Amino acid sequence: MVWDINKLKHYIIIDMKSSRRDFLKTSMALAAAATVTSPARLFATGTKRLSQTKETSGTDKMVLTFEPFEARMKHVFTISGSSRSTTPIVLTKIAYRGYVGYGEASMPPYLGESTASVMDFLRRVDLSRFSSPFQMEEILTYVDNITTNNTAAKCAVDIALHDLCGKIMGQPWWKIWGWSNKDLPSTSVTVGLAYAPDGSIDREEVRKKTLETLDYNLIKVKLGNTKENDKTMINTIREITDLPIVVDANQGWKEKGQALEMIEWLARKGVQMVEQPMPKLLLDETAWLRDRSPLPIMADEACQRLSDIRKLYGAYDGINIKLMKCTGMREAREMITLAKALHMRIMLGCMTETSVAVSAAAQFASQAEWADLDGNWLIANDIFTGMKVVDGRITLEDKPGIGVEPIK
Ligand SMILES: [Mg+2]
Repeated sequence: MVWDINKLKHYIIIDMKSSRRDFLKTSMALAAAATVTSPARLFATGTKRLSQTKETSGTDKMVLTFEPFEARMKHVFTISGSSRSTTPIVLTKIAYRGYVGYGEASMPPYLGESTASVMDFLRRVDLSRFSSPFQMEEILTYVDNITTNNTAAKCAVDIALHDLCGKIMGQPWWKIWGWSNKDLPSTSVTVGLAYAPDGSIDREEVRKKTLETLDYNLIKVKLGNTKENDKTMINTIREITDLPIVVDANQGWKEKGQALEMIEWLARKGVQMVEQPMPKLLLDETAWLRDRSPLPIMADEACQRLSDIRKLYGAYDGINIKLMKCTGMREAREMITLAKALHMRIMLGCMTETSVAVSAAAQFASQAEWADLDGNWLIANDIFTGMKVVDGRITLEDKPGIGVEPIK
């Protein structure tokens, strides 16, 4: 179909007499017509440009740039097995015709990626071989095939590409996918393990962290230590609040009988769900546990990518989807589709991240039963604004792409 620009212009002039709303509609039709005659005109006259950067303005090829960033955490963060106070991040940008999409790779040390490995990977990504960011399937398949692993590095490209395409379309991804931004789940906020020098739980530190979570509706507690320490954590929190709790054992319980005993105790303490109670390779033991557990059991470390889901079916009630593990938004959406087809429950998680990756994950919020999107809340030096938590709940605005803007 060929649009006649002159007729459309005439139509707009007539239409301006009716209403502003109709005028805007026909303006959009004119912009659409311009795509046929000159794609460049769409980008010049279509949706509002966000974050235009001088160095990339007018570039006809996608240009990927990246830089390291160190996220400083508000508290030393301890999970079963490690502690840290900073997280290395690499921020990405894809520029195209005056639009800029933002992305991010977050590399908590236990996942095996580093600033150097992510930068090395990103140097190998050649987007100039593609003519349009809307070749998303082709582009992201190419990126995924560069290496076997490097999921966070791949995610940094995936998020930036989604943000870019959403901005060009002028729509957020939750809306492009036909989902809602109403009644989104509450996000949990994490209280990590805090040890005293003698290896026992530092109850004062746990109290302090717990007091910071009281504006939220759901607390996530990191367990997986000794039975005594795990119970001390929960009891200390329960002295302060009756808020619902979800527990993440981070594979810390090694024996199924011990895990069941702990889960039965936790159920009596107002815990709603347990994430990764046992080592990820102990599938039969986890299936045994799930058959007897009064609480749903979710896979986190056991579930990295789409291809993992089938083997987890039957052993876990659901999966924790994290963009950094699964290469990004494209695969996360496929994982949700498959998990739902298998009647598995869905949780959204994150690493310690800026608002870029957290806002990308939040696009999926309406599809999840639990959301653990506190990555930007855990850091003291976020450099973007994006998804906001209001009264403990995730909220999504009608901003294009992943809805983030750099803090000037
Ligand atoms: Mg977890």
